[in-house]
Amino acid sequence: MSVVDRQEWDVVVVGAGGAGLRAAIEARERGARTAVICKSLFGKAHTVMAEGGIAASMGNVNSGDNWQVHFRDTMRGGKFLNQWRMAELHAQEAPQRVWELETWGALFDRTKDGRISQRNFGGHEYPRLAHVGDRTGLELIRTLQQKIVSLQQEDFRETGDHESRLKVFQECTVTRVLKEGRGVSGVFGYERESGRFFVLEAPAVVIATGGIGKSFKVTSNSWEYTGDGHALALLAGAPLLNMEFVQFHPTGMVWPPSVKGILVTESVRGDGGVLRNSEGKRFMFDYIPDVFKEKYAESEAEGDRWYDDPDHNRRPPELLPRDEVARAINAEVKEGRGSPHGGVFLDVSTRMPAEVIRRRLPSMYHQFKELADVDITAEAMEVGPTCHYVMGGIAVDSDTAAARGVPGLYAAGEVAGGMHGSNRLGGNSLSDLLVFGRRAGRYAAEYAAGRTDEGARTRVDDAQVDAAAAEALRPFSAEAEEPDAGPPENPYTLHQELQQTMNDLVGIIRREAEMKQALEKLAELRVRARRAGVEGHRQFNPGWHLALDLRNMLLVSECVARAALERTESRGGHTREDHPSMDRRWRPVNLICSLAGPADEPAATDPERGRIALERQTTEPIRPDLLALFDKEELVKYLADEELEGRSE
Ligand code: FAD
Repeated sequence: MSVVDRQEWDVVVVGAGGAGLRAAIEARERGARTAVICKSLFGKAHTVMAEGGIAASMGNVNSGDNWQVHFRDTMRGGKFLNQWRMAELHAQEAPQRVWELETWGALFDRTKDGRISQRNFGGHEYPRLAHVGDRTGLELIRTLQQKIVSLQQEDFRETGDHESRLKVFQECTVTRVLKEGRGVSGVFGYERESGRFFVLEAPAVVIATGGIGKSFKVTSNSWEYTGDGHALALLAGAPLLNMEFVQFHPTGMVWPPSVKGILVTESVRGDGGVLRNSEGKRFMFDYIPDVFKEKYAESEAEGDRWYDDPDHNRRPPELLPRDEVARAINAEVKEGRGSPHGGVFLDVSTRMPAEVIRRRLPSMYHQFKELADVDITAEAMEVGPTCHYVMGGIAVDSDTAAARGVPGLYAAGEVAGGMHGSNRLGGNSLSDLLVFGRRAGRYAAEYAAGRTDEGARTRVDDAQVDAAAAEALRPFSAEAEEPDAGPPENPYTLHQELQQTMNDLVGIIRREAEMKQALEKLAELRVRARRAGVEGHRQFNPGWHLALDLRNMLLVSECVARAALERTESRGGHTREDHPSMDRRWRPVNLICSLAGPADEPAATDPERGRIALERQTTEPIRPDLLALFDKEELVKYLADEELEGRSE
């Protein structure tokens, strides 16, 4: 048996972004001894990179806003595929979560009369995003970390140990959720620096690992986002929901190549920035889809007037939901009206005085100045779509964040599916993290307390620990295990091929033949990845870490490709060239991915067969009082015939 450090906790939270930290705070406040594990340094998570703001219908800038309007916008943005109960809870609870942050020390930008300022964003009817310049995520994480430190100080006063009830394990990667029977018994992972293995035993585990962007070549995501939590859940027996929906943010940097994909926040457009093609035309007016026609300006003049007088004008189409804008940019470039480096132009320089740009968009100003030598107060930025966010994720219960099928497993934040339907509105992620992070922490703590009270504390099975250790060590013996198969595969080469495949064949515009080709390539990569080999030892060895991450990226990519092939319509973050329209018959259909082979014997599974089983499931009917928030004429555009019949009964 391998030598593995072991500790006992009540709740283990995997991930220290907004969702993980909010879950940990809640679990600890409800009495659970809580451990938080994160792959990178504490404080370095995607959440810290969030720029534009956090969506909450506080109504500070326009008193017409309320949770019902926010709910409607979220459902429209997701093209009605959202798990409606999540969208309802999210819209109702987001304001409380923002005010709570203030009580914990967050300092948001203010309106002239001293309230939390709120800015416009795509798809939101009213100015709704509470913000701190374009560095909102930093303030959110800073505040949650500060709250954690204050709880640890409380614990110190009582127990003499800061970490007795809440401890952060940073630079540690979890590779397996351990089980006892159907339920959770803990996690297995390794310290990145020393390579040492560890087990945290716990009856409840919250997965909050964020996104999957690193499976794609052009992405706003950083190195940690290899779909680990999605894969951990699958391997533990929990299904994933609607993985075909991947958000390509319309505005990533396109130049220079070393920074391609880095995000240009939507606040640039929310604050007045406009998109133009190489002919200088504001092309978004040509791309307003029928479902949104009544809500968007018909002319540039009307769109421009809206910034000062939103009650008597309609918003400019630059503020359509992200999927629409990304497709429009893609089409302009394809038609030969792109910018010199294959994007389009995003201009604030002719729309706002230089000092306002520097004050409202300080990070963007510095990002372009330092990375591209472009002064955005004097010239336009070049931008194009970048893989940004995954709407698909672990299938969860809306109220409790419990993962389906695995007692004791919870999921919150980007890794959880359902909340955003087929397309997320900007700003709705930060609020999602807080609303469902808190819920996951609460229900995980309650579940753990139940297990402890009953005297039925889970025990970790040594055989599972040994299997997890052997799996993690495999890249060091890849050659020895199959000596006749030639030299081991280089994990970096495999990763590059995977990213290129997903970018080219399962990217922003999808075609049946290409997705089939992608699945063939993924099968080939799966076979080769079993032979991913590394040299050296376990002390900080990034090649080894990547070899382990490949398992997760391949699993998640297979889910995305299989589900994208199955859904023969275009909706939100899933665009099929061969099925270009949204098809109402697909509205009540969820696609569920689960593991096809045995989870505990990955090496024995036939890699060519594919590891993912896909099934269609009918969504739960939308509650009548929520449907009543929409006009019938609007619902007719989205709902399937049988759903509309149900409504009139
Ligand atoms: P993350 O913040 O991504 O954190 C994941 C955590 O999991 C990290 O601590 C990571 O180290 C850890 N982890 C991952 N795998 C493992 C593992 N195997 N073992 C241990 N730990 C692991 N949304 C908005 O609402 N508004 C915005 O303005 C906005 N701007 C954005 C700007 C950028 C550049 C980006 C990339 C995203 C932006 N988003 C925005 C989206 C939003 O930031 C993310 O969706 C959100 O922060 C995800 O939070 P999370 O808590 O789910 O995960």
